[in-house]
Parts: sequence; structure tokens; C-alpha cells
Amino acid sequence: MYDKNNVFFKILQKEIPSNIVYEDEVCLAFHDINPTAKIHVLVITKGCYTNFADFVTKESAENIQKFFQAVARIAERLGISGAGYRILSNTGHDAGQEVQHFHVHIIGGEKL
Ligand code: 5GP
Repeated sequence: MYDKNNVFFKILQKEIPSNIVYEDEVCLAFHDINPTAKIHVLVITKGCYTNFADFVTKESAENIQKFFQAVARIAERLGISGAGYRILSNTGHDAGQEVQHFHVHIIGGEKL
């Protein structure tokens, strides 16, 4: 069950500031507050989904495609497409998911 009382929902509502790098109709991307590499950007959905499985189960195929195409576009804009990067999405307790609003990490800018 999605709970709007999470930090990413507040960032989406612009109630909490973030360092935004990209925004379109399906997603918002901003720098992680606690980066684990030189580049660490979070891409969050505009729709309210708790995690990856929730997103791909409930969202339209068109918006799922738009979301993942945006992730690739953001990496391109960050200038890390050529050198390479990692995308990951922590899902659930064992993965250590902290924020219960679906998001993808884009990590790169150096050898990982
Ligand atoms: P998760 O473990 O849920 O995949 O990762 C959540 C990520 O969100 C962490 O990397 C954490 O540093 C980041 N984060 C948590 N709170 C904030 C915040 O208020 N602003 C930003 N920019 N990042 C946050």
C-alpha cells in the first residue's frame, strides 16, 4: 500500500527542495543527497508506486517505456553513457529499500 508520507512524494510536490537534473510527464530526476559515486542521480516516477514490481504491474506499458527511456536519456545528458554506468532499484527489506516510492539509481562518473 502506497503511503504519501514519504520524502520522495514531498520532493515530487516540491515541498522539499532537490537538485533537479530532469523532469518530464512521467518522472523527476535529482541528485542523491548521499552520493555513493561521483554521479548518483535518482529517477522517481510521477505516479505513486511503492517499488519496481508495483510500478511494472500497475502502470501502463506506454508510461513504463517512457520512464526507462527517460533513464537512458538522463544518463546521456549526465555525460556518462559512453563510459558506462550502473542502474539499480532496491526493492523491499532485504535490498535495504529506504524510501517506499519507486525509483531508479543512476550511478557512475568513475570506475565502480
Ligand atoms: P533506496 O535505498 O530507497 O533505494 O535509496 C534511497 C536513496 O534516497 C538513498 O540513496 C538516499 O541517500 C536518498 N535520499 C533520501 N532522502 C533524500 C532526500 O531528502 N533528498 C535526496 N536528494 N535524496 C535522498
